[in-house]
Parts: sequence; C-alpha cells; structure tokens
Amino acid sequence: MLSIYNSKSKQKEIFKPIRANEVSMYVCGITVYDYCHIGHARAMVAFDMINRYLRYSGYTVKYVRNITDIDDKIIKRAFENKESMQSLTTRFINALTEDMEALGTLAPDLEPKATDYIPQMISLIETLISKGLAYGGSTGDVYFDVMQFKDYGKLAHKDLEALESGARIAIEEAKKTPLDFVLWKLSKENEPYWPSPWGNGRPGWHTECVVMSSLELGQPFDIHGGGNDLKFPHHENEIAQAEGACDKPFVNYWMHVGFVEINKEKMSKSLNNFFTIRDVLREWKHEVVRYFLLASHYRSPVDYSLEALEGAQSALDRLYGALRGIELPTEIIKNELAKTYETRFMEAMDDDFNTPVALSVLFDLARELNRSKAEGLDNAAALAQMLKKLAAVLGLLTEPVEHYFQQDAHSAIDADEIERLIALRRTARAEKNWAKADEIRQQLAQKGVMIEDSGDTTTWRYE
Ligand SMILES: [Zn+2]
Repeated sequence: MLSIYNSKSKQKEIFKPIRANEVSMYVCGITVYDYCHIGHARAMVAFDMINRYLRYSGYTVKYVRNITDIDDKIIKRAFENKESMQSLTTRFINALTEDMEALGTLAPDLEPKATDYIPQMISLIETLISKGLAYGGSTGDVYFDVMQFKDYGKLAHKDLEALESGARIAIEEAKKTPLDFVLWKLSKENEPYWPSPWGNGRPGWHTECVVMSSLELGQPFDIHGGGNDLKFPHHENEIAQAEGACDKPFVNYWMHVGFVEINKEKMSKSLNNFFTIRDVLREWKHEVVRYFLLASHYRSPVDYSLEALEGAQSALDRLYGALRGIELPTEIIKNELAKTYETRFMEAMDDDFNTPVALSVLFDLARELNRSKAEGLDNAAALAQMLKKLAAVLGLLTEPVEHYFQQDAHSAIDADEIERLIALRRTARAEKNWAKADEIRQQLAQKGVMIEDSGDTTTWRYE
C-alpha cells in the first residue's frame, strides 16, 4: 500500500485516491523567461518518477503541470530584450519542452498556460469579492483579505501573527495587512493587460494555479506538488482562494520537493549559483543526472558537486555493466527469484517514493545477475529483464547497453573512428598479424577506449 508524506499533516498517510484506481495530480510548473536550471530539474524529475511509479502501480494518472506565461519577471525581461512578451514566452516554452525531453521526463497529460484562463480567473476573483474575501485597495489593485479566511496558515503550520512578523515587505499602503496578496494588478503603461471589472490589468500569480487545477482536475483533487519554496506563500494562498470560494477542501495530499544546493546554499537565479539543464547535459548523460537527483529522497536537499555526478556515473556504469552480454527476449519470463526483487523495490517506492532504497534493491539485483552470469545459470535473462523493468520506473537503463557505454561527451575519439580501428584490428588478427592488432589496441587505450574480445566479437567502451 502506498503511503505519501503530506506536507499539510506533516506525516506519512496511506494514499486513498478520490476515484478508485485514478490519480489527479497538479504540479506547479515553470515561469518561462529563461533557461531552466538543475534546481528546476530536481522537481520535474521527482514528479516524473512519481508519475511513472503511480502508473506502474496500476493507477490511471491525470498529470497536469502548468506554464506561467504572465508574470512581472516575464514583463521585465521582455522589456529588457525589446521583444514582445509572447515571443519571449514562446521561445522559452520551446526550450522547456526540449529540456524536459532531454532529461527523459514523460510529458504531462496537460500543460495549461496561465494566459488561456484569464476569464476564469476574473470570475474566481468576483466570487471572492462577493463573499467578502477580497477587496479593492486604494491603488485599484484587488487583494485577498487574509484576515477573513480563518484557516490561513494551515499548510505553513504557523499562526497569522508568526506569519505577519515574518512577512519581509513593509505594509504597502494599499493593503489592509502585510499578508494580503494581490489577485488583480492594474497594468502600467506599455504593460500587457486584459480588461476586467476593476480595469485593465493582469492576474496575480497565486490565482492561476487555483483556476487551472480545479477546472482540469475538479475540487478536491488528489495530489498537488511543487518545490519546497512554493509551500508558503504560494500554496497557502492557493488554499485560501480555492477553499474560500467554494467552501470545500482543495487538495488531499500536498507534496514538496527539496532544493538542490551548492555549498549548502539553494541553487537559484537570484543567487546566481545555478547550472542550466542544457549546460549540464552537454557534459553528462541524462541518466547520470537523473541518477544523481534520485539518489536522494525527494524531500531532502541534494548537494550539487562534480564528485556527486561522478559517483552517479560510476553507479550507473555498474548497473549497465550487469546487463552486458545478455540477449533479452521480447516475451516476459516468469521467475520467482526476479519477482522477489520487484516486491522489495515496490516496498521501497510505496514508502513515500523512497528512491535511495529502491536503487539499493537494483544493486542487489545487479549483483544477483552478475553471479548468475558468472555461474552460467539459466535465470540471467529473467533477472536482466526485471532489472530493466524496475529501473525504467526511475527513467534509468532505458538505452541499449552498448550504446550507453559508447557515448562520452568528453572523449577525443568518436564511435565511427573506434569502429573503423576495430575493423582494421579484426583484419590484422585474421591475418595473424598480432603486432599490428596489439598496436591498434594500445592506440585505442591511449584514447581511453577499452576493448574486449569474446569469441569472434569485439565490444568496446570508454574507460
Ligand atoms: Zn502554482
């Protein structure tokens, strides 16, 4: 049985979906004005793993991940670039799609854009005003009146006083209290706008997710997720609007993913200590990056370092190495021993998606497989098949084995050249020209390529 740590109750709870065998999941996506970095990759890969495992467990999943395409940062960047907001966001939506594909994440079932839901946001704000939960401030912007929503702070687990004293901005004249947040913001000259009962303007960020999630998934829905930094105020503010407007629960399980840190500091645009996904993937295979991110539990912070990526690479090499030399049949082989590993893997994943333990099960399985190969047992293919099947839940071991070993962004010699030299060596060996064959082997070794002969075939890998 699956249990999930619910940020709202601060404990693991048995997962009970609203509709049997179906899961509705909404994840706060990306604000599209720049390239995504590894901090974004962490949250996206974590929810990709969750999505994959829910499906593996037999659920039908509706996974919605929004795109924030209207926001102050977007307006500012478009202005700096002297381009339209639309051209900026279109460019970075394309980049986002490329990055997510390059990381091997499955596309969400729906990727709604905020600007496609403006009329529905306006009608939510009208409801909040009519219920006395929102007001027009002196500058004309519309705010949510936090004091009127009795449960405010229940996700952050703080009372109003504590939250207020922590609110870092000074009271803006237009607001009643510092925690009140903007629902509709009037546009200044040259800013994009939509007409509304309160004047030309744009919605505040916290409103879009309420509208897109509840329209696409219903209210309540099962899982709402995002990075840890979204818990407060973004998700708290979503609850206040959704439950304030409809008088019914908004979300059953709140899930939050830990940060990627560098030297114990959060990786972020504002600290300028980030690495973009595309830069990192130029240096490292995407499965190495996924392995690195999934080797820690999704709720803990992960420390980004060269050593950690190197560690991930050698761990992944060992898993792929276990699959070498095995012909995998297309039909599923039933095997009791292989099945025991699936049981252990699922126990780990059922425990709040404990990927570090799940990975350790894959290593046990790889060890069993190596033993089976060494002893020439007939269960090797079944074990290899299970290893590939379980690893795929984490988006790992998805490549043909030799192809995996033959990719190396750092190498000074490409695969075609290596194949050419191996063919030359084969000819030399056929002609019993051992000196020549040896010379080619050494030439390859100098370039970091190891070759192995087994019968008539020669395989190779980067060292
Ligand atoms: Zn959101």
